Amino acid sequence: MGLIEKIYDKSPIFLQNIMVSLKGFLNNKSRYGKEYYKYRLFLEDFDNWSFEKKKEYQDTELVKFIKFAYYKSPFYRELYKGIDLSEINGVEDLKLLPIVDKEMLRSNIKNVFSEVHEACVESHTGGTTGKSLVVRMTNIDSMHRMAMLDHFKKRHGFEHRKMRRVTFNGKHIIPPSQKSKCFWRYNRACKQLIMSSFHLSEENLGFYVNKLNRFKPHAIDGFFSSMCDVANYIERKGLKLDFLPIAIFPTSETITEEGRELLERVFGCKVYDQYASSEGAPFVTECKCGKLHIEMQTGVFEQFDDSNEILITSFSTHGTPLIRYRIGDKMSLSKINECTCGISSLMVDSISGRKQDFLYNAEGVKINAGNVSNLFKNVPNAIIRVQLVQNVKNEVFAYLEIDKEKYKNEYDDIIKKEFEHTFGVNTKIFIHHVDKLNRENSGKFRMIVNNVVG
Ligand SMILES: [Zn+2]
Repeated sequence: MGLIEKIYDKSPIFLQNIMVSLKGFLNNKSRYGKEYYKYRLFLEDFDNWSFEKKKEYQDTELVKFIKFAYYKSPFYRELYKGIDLSEINGVEDLKLLPIVDKEMLRSNIKNVFSEVHEACVESHTGGTTGKSLVVRMTNIDSMHRMAMLDHFKKRHGFEHRKMRRVTFNGKHIIPPSQKSKCFWRYNRACKQLIMSSFHLSEENLGFYVNKLNRFKPHAIDGFFSSMCDVANYIERKGLKLDFLPIAIFPTSETITEEGRELLERVFGCKVYDQYASSEGAPFVTECKCGKLHIEMQTGVFEQFDDSNEILITSFSTHGTPLIRYRIGDKMSLSKINECTCGISSLMVDSISGRKQDFLYNAEGVKINAGNVSNLFKNVPNAIIRVQLVQNVKNEVFAYLEIDKEKYKNEYDDIIKKEFEHTFGVNTKIFIHHVDKLNRENSGKFRMIVNNVVG
């Protein structure tokens, strides 16, 4: 934990709000540059292109991006040795290139980074197996990704930064020692009320609902499971809402049909799903007809095998190029490319992906898989795999398969600190280093084994 976090944790709430907003204004500076506005205009125009024109554009961008990776990233230069890149003219030829998996990325990450002179930001990702990965993203790429996200919301009537939103995310905005029932902070820079996803216990949920009624958000976004917890409480208690949001935009988790129905019933508005990852995957977004569109300007999806696993190639990864990357998510790609919403593009039938795994903290709050994997994101590239086992609510056993050359002893403390922020002070973590973590008989690996739920 850094010095700024320590100062933050010791500050009064009004100061914490100021700090959150300052961070927001700083982020805005790097996210909303000239390139952002230029790309928004492009995206608006792109929606009206014909399918053929979009396909051509995707092919051209792909060839450009592969060349970029070959010339700028030592890892890809080595990987593509002996392959005649001039034979690759578009998506159809992608199979000439080898597949890249997470372990290849993690163990070579410094060579994967491209030699660009542009400013980059680092993003830490936990991923579905708890493998810690640091990816670099150029400022232009993050502006493009932001523009894509905002454009998607705009299609449904929500204008980012002009309208109020509530976000449930994995940020540690509430210090572990806080006694007050104020489980949110306000980021003025984005008109965004950030609500903690770590304090949604039965005794606290009423405070969340009251705050929602006072804040009256135009949209709600972030963790799907957290929104469902709130909605479930509202319905069970028969509470009334004093606002009607324009839309709900869940991120990071696979959404379930029951959950979607619950949210739409309780909040009285539509839920629009999207897919994009912190590693920088291309986008899939839901349209007003409820269909999932591949945003072809952002990259390529391929079906990897019969189990619906996908490979992604993302055009917004100039810092850490991802080409035919086995990201670990599952989708079934559609054969249809026309939709009644008026946008023609490749489509996705369904995103199956991640199971709704979670652990409990001592207070009985569900800590979702996204937040659990984030426990390890601050130990850069040193963890191969993690398994967390829970037998009683106030204890978690963490088994770590580590990279012995990169792992430092003090990393255990970083994880414990992070754990305390996520699970609170009443839940204990026991860390064990192991040589190898076993897969299940099915060949699948489970990051979370929750024996409390059975
Ligand atoms: Zn559509």
